[in-house]
Amino acid sequence: MTKVLVLAEAKNGKLRSVSFEVLTVASRLAADGEISACVFGSDAERHSKELSKYGAQTIYIAENEELDDYTPDGYKQALLEVIEEMNPDVILTGHTSIGKDILPRIAARLDKALFSDCINIETDDGIIFTRPIYSGKAYQKKKVHDDVVIATIRPNNMEAVENPVTAEIIKLPVTITDLRAIVKEVVSKSNGKVDLAEAKVVVSGGRGVKSAKGFEPLQELAGLLGGAVGASRGACDANYCDYSLQIGQTGKVVTPDLYIACGISGAVQHLAGMSSSKVIVAINKDPEANIFQVCDYGIVGDLFEVVPLLIEEFKSA
Ligand code: FAD
Repeated sequence: MTKVLVLAEAKNGKLRSVSFEVLTVASRLAADGEISACVFGSDAERHSKELSKYGAQTIYIAENEELDDYTPDGYKQALLEVIEEMNPDVILTGHTSIGKDILPRIAARLDKALFSDCINIETDDGIIFTRPIYSGKAYQKKKVHDDVVIATIRPNNMEAVENPVTAEIIKLPVTITDLRAIVKEVVSKSNGKVDLAEAKVVVSGGRGVKSAKGFEPLQELAGLLGGAVGASRGACDANYCDYSLQIGQTGKVVTPDLYIACGISGAVQHLAGMSSSKVIVAINKDPEANIFQVCDYGIVGDLFEVVPLLIEEFKSA
């Protein structure tokens, strides 16, 4: 009987949608097994109802104030206590900034392999993970040969499916000690309402946007579509926007339903962060731009003419 543990993540008082996607993966792996979730922070219990809606049969809660903000030491201590308590066969979380930071530490501590940024999971005489390699130019299938499986799952890649159950809530009296760093303040640079990593629509600007003001029509378009604004490193380097918007090999990886690239040439490092988007639209005035090799719909034209037309069209729709 497979026992799966999902580390759920809350942001601004709400569970991140990737946590529900990971619980859905857990349901596939533990069809007749046991699915547990853990969530940390002083008001963590409020998330239990939603976690049970997506199949968490047991919910471990560490209600410590020290866990209100992520710290590697604090989360490591709490997660190791949950692991010791339930002894899982599989440990999963989202491939988010926190997931990318905490699970390698847990894997190292348990001396187990880590499968990161997984985009698909098959169970065929064992667990097989699919994950991108070479900046998304190829995919690798890896079969697990270990008694404990640890993996991070790419957000926005697998559909979250409701699977309501009645959950048992277990409050763990975790003692957090010896924090080497504590969070004094979190200053959020991105003021968008939609989280870029989880947005269903991303409107991205590149060097072709030409200025910070040039991003305004992109923000309007993203707002109309309920999406978020992203950027190429070219735009960030040129100071048109903040690095928190950067998408690509050294930025965020996004998998929205719709990615609109405006004035972005399509360098391989940018493609690494967005090429698995479901539908890609490119607007570029250079018909030879590389982005046209990967897009589903290409518009050869000046973004300062095309984007306002799209805004007009969506406003009247
Ligand atoms: P450019 O390549 O200058 O392209 C601008 C495009 O805008 C052109 O195609 C042009 O035709 C078009 N354009 C201009 N004006 C208009 C207009 N009015 N209307 C329509 N189109 C117009 N890049 C990333 O994005 N993300 C990363 O994570 C990243 N990591 C990197 C890591 C390393 C180690 C290295 C070496 C590079 C990395 N880069 C990354 C940089 C990458 O190689 C490119 O330099 C960068 O992506 C280019 O950004 P850009 O497409 O905005 O600019």
